[in-house]
Amino acid sequence: MKITMLGCGTSVGVPSLGILGWGKCNPNNPKNRRQRSSVLIQENGFNILIDAGPDVRNQLLDTKIEKIDAVLITHTHSDHISGLHELRPFFFGNRKNIPIYGNKNSINEIYKQFDFLFDKKPTSPSYFIPPMSLNEIKEGNIDFFGFDLDIFIQDHGNTQSLGFKFNNKFAYSTDVVKMPEENFELLNNLDLWIVEGLRDDPHEAHAHFDLTFEWINRVKPKKSILTHLGHVDYDYVLSICPENVYPGYDGMTFDL
Ligand SMILES: [Zn+2]
Ligand SMILES: [Zn+2]
Repeated sequence: MKITMLGCGTSVGVPSLGILGWGKCNPNNPKNRRQRSSVLIQENGFNILIDAGPDVRNQLLDTKIEKIDAVLITHTHSDHISGLHELRPFFFGNRKNIPIYGNKNSINEIYKQFDFLFDKKPTSPSYFIPPMSLNEIKEGNIDFFGFDLDIFIQDHGNTQSLGFKFNNKFAYSTDVVKMPEENFELLNNLDLWIVEGLRDDPHEAHAHFDLTFEWINRVKPKKSILTHLGHVDYDYVLSICPENVYPGYDGMTFDL
């Protein structure tokens, strides 16, 4: 299984527009340039994308992949879905419908925002075929494009996000501020956990570093990578990380 961290940045990216800019980040370190959070998982010829935010086109151009087999959606905050329409050219290439998977709330919200991706309308051109479809997934274990996939629910402040575990080896947990107790057993013995760590100070919807480190200390993955990073300098985060924990950077890859 190959995992590519397409983006490890918080909702506005780093640098962000306006006076916030680079924040506390050293602009001369390329690892501080963070696109919106997303990962690509590849195995046995399948390409699975988690989330499609506003940077997704540039992120996927760099990977040179020619198809997307499925898109898993963690939740519908715009930094995770607002680039969904950018995936249309994959359909133009092979005319194969791209299935989008999310919980019931997510698929309803995505349909509201992007109905043109899923419906042929009376006003659509005659040649138009909807490039994508919406599919509901629920908490539990499923066979997913050859992966043994566990889907779990995370508390993201006043909403929920989905976490995903692949082949009992790799899990992805972004946009989470409280980890429900029942997930800890599921997260035991991972080779790799990509998990949110936003910043030093607590936030009402996102895990801050000390909280993330507590979770990591409970489930003890072989390696943990922080994602959804705010305006915090890479070298600083690296200096406070416990053993086997590292800040993410865009383009990082893992072979499991
Ligand atoms: Zn987010
Ligand atoms: Zn969010």
